[in-house]
Amino acid sequence: MKRIAFARIAQETNALSPVLTTLRDFEASHFVEGDALLAAVQGGREVSGLYRRVELAGFVAAARQRRAEIEPVPIVSAWSPSSGPLSRECFDALEDRLLEGVRRAHRASPLAGMYLCLHGAMGVRGVADPECRLIRGVRAILGGAPLVVSHDLHGNVTQARIAAVDALVAYQTNPHRDHARTGHKAGRIAIGAALGELRPTMAWRSLPMILGGGRTIDFLAPMRAVFRRMHRAERDGEALAASTLMVHPWNDDPHLGWSTVAVTDGDAATADRLADELAELCWARRHVPPPSFQTASEAIAAARRAWVRRRLGCVTIADVSDVVTAGAPGDSTHLMRALLAEASGLVTYCAVRDPAAIGQLWPRAGGDRVALSIGGTLDPEMSSPLPVTGEIVSKHDRHGFGKTVVLAVEHLRIVITEGPAMVMRPAFYTDVGLPIWKADIVVVKNFIPFLMFFVAYNRKALFARTRGRSDFDAAFQLSFDGPMHPRDAVDDWRDRDRIRRGVS
Ligand SMILES: [Zn+2]
Repeated sequence: MKRIAFARIAQETNALSPVLTTLRDFEASHFVEGDALLAAVQGGREVSGLYRRVELAGFVAAARQRRAEIEPVPIVSAWSPSSGPLSRECFDALEDRLLEGVRRAHRASPLAGMYLCLHGAMGVRGVADPECRLIRGVRAILGGAPLVVSHDLHGNVTQARIAAVDALVAYQTNPHRDHARTGHKAGRIAIGAALGELRPTMAWRSLPMILGGGRTIDFLAPMRAVFRRMHRAERDGEALAASTLMVHPWNDDPHLGWSTVAVTDGDAATADRLADELAELCWARRHVPPPSFQTASEAIAAARRAWVRRRLGCVTIADVSDVVTAGAPGDSTHLMRALLAEASGLVTYCAVRDPAAIGQLWPRAGGDRVALSIGGTLDPEMSSPLPVTGEIVSKHDRHGFGKTVVLAVEHLRIVITEGPAMVMRPAFYTDVGLPIWKADIVVVKNFIPFLMFFVAYNRKALFARTRGRSDFDAAFQLSFDGPMHPRDAVDDWRDRDRIRRGVS
């Protein structure tokens, strides 16, 4: 019986956000170790309150298919919503728990390999390429045993990561819906290598490009052809895994950029050719810009005009400058201020993260009239507090969001949260007594996945840009190792790719 360990440390960092991520954020969201982790994964509660079966369930399913030969060994799983960089103490604590867990398992009986699930775009105050540090730490314990890592397709791939792993695989969907399939694929490669049936052989490319490919949706042009090429490579047995990582642009690694990775069974030439071909396909799509967005006033006017659609369901407005699922603080008041002034008569649900306001409101009772300022305190450079007068509708203490107060201010129902306000599913509002069918406008703080979650209600989706940490061009202030598309003119990707990969 061969023992293969598995673990997850995952958070997506917006390096521009001043809101540091602490160990308390992980503990409040998801932090499970040892046998409790295996039980949670097998019980369909892998990331409680968010995901039933994702990467680790996929990995365990791959191990169960070889149950006579493979024993999956749970180490730790920690996940926190996208936000600012991890504090150094938080990272050190997570690294300790991961490495101590792997060391203990390895001492008990030697591990034949490991699957490590990482987001790929995690940042830490004061640590360069922190996920590579985790990978190297595990590698030092495992020795030559196979180590397979998975990334979100917004992860960043670096030479040091590639050097320390046997295989790296990423999601092949955007919006993401193949988490479990990705874990299963990583598991098959780790298991095959541990049993001596596979010889994972990897090639990759790195592009000096942080935006392009239009909306970057896997099943729409212009990226559809790239994803189809990857599927074909895996289906036809050309590769064990093919990945295109379209990068989280607000990650402050100087070598940031889209990348492609191909893993074959012992065929270095094919891996190299495939990674190169995928890189060329991506580079050819670099001039298709991300969507341009309306102003808040334009979006509100469009929502007002869409009265038939509002009657049949709701209009969603994505606050694209304060996308919490892209690590923005969620405390922006720009859109809320415009909704208060310009959306009168339209029942509007919106959200703001403000722990200080929660401190003021929590002792008060439902039905109380209150006057206070909300929002604009976590990130005062981006927006200012909004003075409001309203009535407390209800109070809740919710997993992940923390203490939550619903405030009625004229036509607005404002959901104020203590923790990260990941507003992308109807449950964010329905769980606090705000049925979606009663709303004219529902604000989300998300770019794409909300379209899937709101499909039963949403009759029109609008995207409002104000000013904030998830603006695409906000990433242009980060520093890179050279000219970066689309901020700068870049004629050729190959020179930078060679330098980044360390080949002459
Ligand atoms: Zn992603």
